[in-house]
Amino acid sequence: MADYAIGVDLGGTNLRAAAISRDGKMLGKVAGAIPVNGGRDAVISDMVRSVETLRDGLSGQNLAGVGVGMPGFIMLESGVVSVAPNLPGFENFAVRDAIEKRLGTTVILENDANSAALGEKWMGAGRGTGDLVLLTLGTGIGGGIIVNGRVLHGVLGMAGELGHITVSPNGYPCGCGNNGCVEKYASATAVSAMAQLLNLGQGLSSEEVFHLAKGGNERARLIFDTVGEALGILLGNLINTFNFPLYLLGGGLTAAWELFEPAMKKELTHRSFIYRNNPPRVERAALGGDAGLYGAARLPLENN
Ligand SMILES: [Zn+2]
Repeated sequence: MADYAIGVDLGGTNLRAAAISRDGKMLGKVAGAIPVNGGRDAVISDMVRSVETLRDGLSGQNLAGVGVGMPGFIMLESGVVSVAPNLPGFENFAVRDAIEKRLGTTVILENDANSAALGEKWMGAGRGTGDLVLLTLGTGIGGGIIVNGRVLHGVLGMAGELGHITVSPNGYPCGCGNNGCVEKYASATAVSAMAQLLNLGQGLSSEEVFHLAKGGNERARLIFDTVGEALGILLGNLINTFNFPLYLLGGGLTAAWELFEPAMKKELTHRSFIYRNNPPRVERAALGGDAGLYGAARLPLENN
């Protein structure tokens, strides 16, 4: 039986990798040396080097394999990334086979938001719960759905694209081609964009808008009402769909929880009779940026 696995998170600006034991203890963590948009070959070499560094430090222990959480649409069967806007050169490239060949160990790819959801289920706020949804409020909104302890994939591996669920039928246009996707209202990017629309300032970060709202700025507060409203609509639909016991919110924007929570709860109460009568837990995720590392490492351990 394998002792540990290595999880790689390719979701941010640099890749990170961690060795995690079968019982969920982090044994080591390294950061990659080059930006993830630095070109395919350089990124793959960086990933291989990071995994080898961790593996060399644990010689004598048995490695189950490597899990890689990355943004984009991942075709699970073929190990090909079909759409990866933030990773130049990766589109339609057989990532899994390329890494497997160089490392000589099992490699499993997963969408980064799905990895984070699995990580929260294994060692975070979802411990002891078989079924949950995680929403990650960052540049966009990532989603992961866990059923019976496993990631829900759908037929191609693309289930859980929750950031592109419509919350406003004729709303802001989204890069995905739809109008009114929830990530146009409740992501960090959306908060900055709304601040600009309300003439709060050019190029304000979501943190700056958060501080304005905390300081009592009415227009900034309105933005977080909009965030809460959009999240409440989304979560109400998810609760009515799944009847799960737990819905988690992660990502930087959750720092503004107390600002968007009232509008979110109001929408939930209005839109979901299940929430009204038997409210499930709607809570903050626990692992922060490490959720994806835990989840990615969990993948090779699931069958080994
Ligand atoms: Zn969209």
